[in-house]
Amino acid sequence: MTVETTIDAALPAVPRGATVSFYDLLPEDLGAWLTAQGQPAFRAAQLFSGIYSHFASRATAIPGVPKALGAAIDAAFPLDILAEVTRVTSSDGRTTKLLFRTPDGCLIEGVLMHYRERTTACISSQAGCGYGCTFCATGKMGLSRNLSAGEIVAQVVALARLSHTQGEPLTNIVYMGMGEPLANYDQVMRSIALLNEPQCLKFGARRITVSTVGLAPRIRRLAEEPWQINLAVSLHQTTDEARSALMPVNMHYPIAELLDAVRFYVTKTHRRVSFEYALIAGVNDTGTVANELSALLKGILCHVNLIPLNPVAEAVGLDGTILTRPTRERAEAFAAMLVARGLPASVRFSRGTDIAAGCGQLRAEVATSSSATEAA
Ligand code: SAH
Ligand code: SF4
Repeated sequence: MTVETTIDAALPAVPRGATVSFYDLLPEDLGAWLTAQGQPAFRAAQLFSGIYSHFASRATAIPGVPKALGAAIDAAFPLDILAEVTRVTSSDGRTTKLLFRTPDGCLIEGVLMHYRERTTACISSQAGCGYGCTFCATGKMGLSRNLSAGEIVAQVVALARLSHTQGEPLTNIVYMGMGEPLANYDQVMRSIALLNEPQCLKFGARRITVSTVGLAPRIRRLAEEPWQINLAVSLHQTTDEARSALMPVNMHYPIAELLDAVRFYVTKTHRRVSFEYALIAGVNDTGTVANELSALLKGILCHVNLIPLNPVAEAVGLDGTILTRPTRERAEAFAAMLVARGLPASVRFSRGTDIAAGCGQLRAEVATSSSATEAA
């Protein structure tokens, strides 16, 4: 049997630098490609099942798939688009961080976190990030490029495979790794469609959370999408002056405009949003700020996730002081102040800080140690 391997012009578009992979394909894409190759339609179900239910790493390894067809699929739609560079596991064994390299040399991170009642994959949406939040390791790298939907799905598959081998299957996905998901809107939406697709991972949208730095127009656009996903908004401060000092994006979309977009989102979707709030000692954890925060979010259907700041090298405030996290007691006192003012809030102690599991931190560590090696 001979199989044509010409790339069809109708294949899914991927960002410049990315390679089209099997993980970019929706059933209709694969179906059209198989038909063009003169292959029977049932091959699609066989391939999807082999790859998503049995985590095959090559089409040629799927039982029943003719060797020539498997080889043609592997050539046209490679499955090995993310090479694992480093794997680190926290001392308690409950958090594992994977660093991947894309074919064009971008390094991206995915993290698997086991909790008592759920297992969460934290995935990247971009290689690096252009938003430059001062407390964020990824923000210090700048943006290399957008990830393709397939590269996003491939991270989930790698983490799902690991999760499966650890005997605790994946239950949740959060777009809280490297990058700003709503700045890579089309690929991120397509990745949600792929994750949700019954023939792929069949992952319920309600178990998927997208976190944004606060791109107000994109939050409005997201409100019109059919997906019942969860939205998390990174707020971190209560006044424009203070928020702009931590998050330069606030100069484009100030707090009032951001919260208007969030109100629109809640009205449209009837879904509760989460506000992410990284607690920084002496900066945004005072009683005054707790008062301001509860006044600001009054009337919005929401929950506030308080995350004591992960220490990041060179994270400095406006006055040049190093940013640090408050004590557990102080974080809990801040949460209690919000709750007392009627604002639902809880403290999330971030996972895996001993393995640099904060956003972008492993990539930063590897880059630092390899440049140190090069310099030596
Ligand atoms: N770009 C998106 C999603 C990725 S960042 C966003 O900014 O929301 C995921 C979350 O990690 C965000 O809430 C971000 O503010 C937070 N974050 C980044 N660096 C952190 C740090 N050093 N400590 C605690 N949270 C951090
Ligand atoms: Fe980018 Fe989010 Fe980090 Fe800000 S916090 S620099 S938006 S990844």
